[in-house]
Amino acid sequence: MERLDISIRQQLLKDDAELIGKPFELAGNNARAVQANTRHMALILQDSAVKDRASRMAAFAEVLIDVNLHHYVKEPVACARGCSHCCTTYVSTSLPEVFRLAQAVRGKGMTHARVIAAAARAKAMPQLQREIDRVNCPILDNHACSEYLHRPVVCRAVLSTSLKTCELIFLKGSSIPFTAPPSLGSLRSYIIIMMRAAMVLAGLPHRNYELTHALQIALAQADSEERWLAGEPLFDDVAIDRLDQETSQLTKIVDGLAGAVRPTI
Ligand code: SF4
Repeated sequence: MERLDISIRQQLLKDDAELIGKPFELAGNNARAVQANTRHMALILQDSAVKDRASRMAAFAEVLIDVNLHHYVKEPVACARGCSHCCTTYVSTSLPEVFRLAQAVRGKGMTHARVIAAAARAKAMPQLQREIDRVNCPILDNHACSEYLHRPVVCRAVLSTSLKTCELIFLKGSSIPFTAPPSLGSLRSYIIIMMRAAMVLAGLPHRNYELTHALQIALAQADSEERWLAGEPLFDDVAIDRLDQETSQLTKIVDGLAGAVRPTI
């Protein structure tokens, strides 16, 4: 597909400023806002002069989900500091978010040691088992996320409206549905789709991985982000999320969005 004329692209970028990092509609005619934010993320990732551009894209995604959570979630939530029931389950995350978290953890010896131990355990445990067994996330410290400002999108998008339901699910193993604000599922999906489409546009792998093993690898080398951006297959040994299948509906939506944005960058 041909790129749009440069003057049209310039006007588009100028108009995007009104939509970038702002609340967007979760249904209906939101294509313009979705494309503007995806384009912004893709352009961050394509700026090869910036060594930590993957982390920066993840940082923007954090802003985008937070501003939308603030806009849409009006229900009282049960989540509070010191409650960490949900931080004991499998966390599926993108590699830019892993690098963002690694930046925050690097140099923090205790947390790094917990990551190494958790990664060894995660590697030895099939994903289905990991979803049943409760294993503390290594970022947890005294039942609170020690990197709250840098936590992945999927962690931000877990908000509960019932502590009792969380206790039944995470402490008793109940299979009852999680109770969350109704806007949360759509919002999480949109942000994940936008991030993935941006990675597709930047020619980067866009699968989701188990957090702790990926984080251990990201922390093992000071320049892991640069090396991954340069195409080194650093994460080949990390298991891809079992739900992250090439043929999934999600992949089709991501490819469709990337295809719509590609001529504009
Ligand atoms: S990164 Fe933070 S919020 Fe996410 S599972 Fe770990 S401790 Fe919980």
